[in-house]
Amino acid sequence: MSASPLIVIGGGPAGLAAAELLSAAGRRVHLYDAMPSVGRKFLLAGRGGLNLTHGEDYARFLSRFTPLPALLKEALDAFQPADLRGWCEELGIATFVGSSNRVFPVDMKAAPLLRAWLRRLHAQGVQLHSRHRWLGWGEDGALRFSTPAGELHVAAAPTLLALGGASWSRLGSDGAWMAPLQAAGAAVAPLLPSNCGFDVVDGWSRWLRERHAGQPVKPVAIEFEGRRQQGEFVVTATGIEGSLVYAFSSRLRDAVARDGAATLYLDLLPQTPRAKVEEVLRRGQGAKSLASFLKSQFQIAGLKTALLHELRGELPLAQALKALPLRLAAPRPVDEAISSAGGLRWEALDAHWQLRARPGVYAAGEMLDWEAPTGGYLLNACIATGRAAARGLLAQA
Ligand SMILES: Cc1cc2nc3c(=O)[nH]c(=O)nc-3n(C[C@H](O)[C@H](O)[C@H](O)COP(=O)(O)OP(=O)(O)OC[C@H]3O[C@@H](n4cnc5c(N)ncnc54)[C@H](O)[C@@H]3O)c2cc1C
Repeated sequence: MSASPLIVIGGGPAGLAAAELLSAAGRRVHLYDAMPSVGRKFLLAGRGGLNLTHGEDYARFLSRFTPLPALLKEALDAFQPADLRGWCEELGIATFVGSSNRVFPVDMKAAPLLRAWLRRLHAQGVQLHSRHRWLGWGEDGALRFSTPAGELHVAAAPTLLALGGASWSRLGSDGAWMAPLQAAGAAVAPLLPSNCGFDVVDGWSRWLRERHAGQPVKPVAIEFEGRRQQGEFVVTATGIEGSLVYAFSSRLRDAVARDGAATLYLDLLPQTPRAKVEEVLRRGQGAKSLASFLKSQFQIAGLKTALLHELRGELPLAQALKALPLRLAAPRPVDEAISSAGGLRWEALDAHWQLRARPGVYAAGEMLDWEAPTGGYLLNACIATGRAAARGLLAQA
C-alpha cells in the first residue's frame, strides 16, 4: 500500500521548503495557498535585493534569534548559511556576500530563484492548489478551505502548516490561523510588529515633515538600553523606519509597551569621538552662523541640522550632536512591518514539530514565536524550519 498523501498549507519559503523535502522523500504532496500564486512575500523581499542569509560567524548569527529554543537551533544547525547558499547554487542561482556581510543572489532578484524552486517542486510531483484559504478543521477532522467554488473539505492527512505571520496581509499572511489553532488548544502569543517603524512622540513639526520625510539620515548611530549600532534610517511622515531602526525594534517595541514611550539617542557624528567634537566646539564658531559652522566643521547639513533644531531643546551642543534624544510613542501597525513576532508558542510543539494539541499537524516558519532583525536571518530560518518540520513529519507519517 502506498503511503498517504501529505498536505502543506502555505506557499511561502517555509511551506515551499517543506514541500520540497517531503516530495524529495518520494511522498505525494498537496500544497494549498490562499492566494492566486505562491511566494508573494518572497517576491516582495526581492525588491530590496533579496537578502537570503548572513555571512557572519555562525555563533553570532545564532545570537540574532530571540528566542532561540532548542528546536529552532537544531533547524538552523541543519541548514546553516553555507547550506542555504549551496541550495541556491543547486537551483542555478549564484550568491555573493555583500560589503555588510549580507548574502544576496548575484542578480539581486527573487523571481528567478522562485521559478527554479517551483520547477523543482513540479518535477517532484508537488500539486499546487492556489486560491484555497484554510479555515480550520471540520467536526470530522477534515481540513476546511474557502475556494472560488465554495467551501471544500479535504480528508484529514498529515498536515504541515506554514501560514506566515501578520505583516503585509495583502500578500496572503493575515494571522487568521490563530483562531482555529487556539480553538484546537494550541498556545499562541499575540502577533506583534517586528522590524518595524515607529511614530515619534507628538509627531514631527510640519516643517520637518514637509521638507524631509522620506530622506535618509546617514551615517548615524543609535544608542538604546546600553546597545549601540551605526547605520542609517529614514525619517517618515510620522517617525522613523529603516534597517538601523529595525535592529532595535524588538527592544523599542517592548520598552514602549512597558513604559508607554521609549527614548533612544542619536549620534549624528558617529565617526568623531566626543572629545574631538568638544575640542572643535571650544574653538568657537566665530562670525559664522551655527548652520554654516556645523557644515564647515562637521559636514552636518540638511536633515541632520533639521533634527538638531527639532530635538535639541536646551541641550549643550556637544551632547546634542553625540546623544540627541528621540522619544518614540508607538511602533507602526504590524501590517506595515517587515515581519511579526509572536505566534505559535514553542511549548505547543513536540520534538517532531508536531502540535501537542493536534497530533498529525506540524508547523514551521514565521508563524512560530521567534524574531530576528533584517539581514537574511528571517528567510534562512523560515527555510530551515520548513525543512526541519518536514523531517519531523516524515519521522512519524
Ligand atoms: C517588504 C519585505 C521585505 C523583506 N525582505 C526580506 C529579506 O530581504 N530577507 C529576509 O530574510 N526576509 C525578508 N522579509 C521577511 C520574509 O519575507 C518572511 O519572513 C518570510 O516570507 C516568511 O516566510 P513564511 O513561509 O513563514 O511565510 P510567508 O512568506 O508569509 O508565506 C505564508 C503563506 O501562507 C499563505 N497563507 C496564509 N494564511 C493562509 C490560510 N489561512 N490558508 C491558506 N494559505 C494561507 C499565504 O498566502 C502565504 O503564501 C521581508 C518581508 C517584507 C514584508
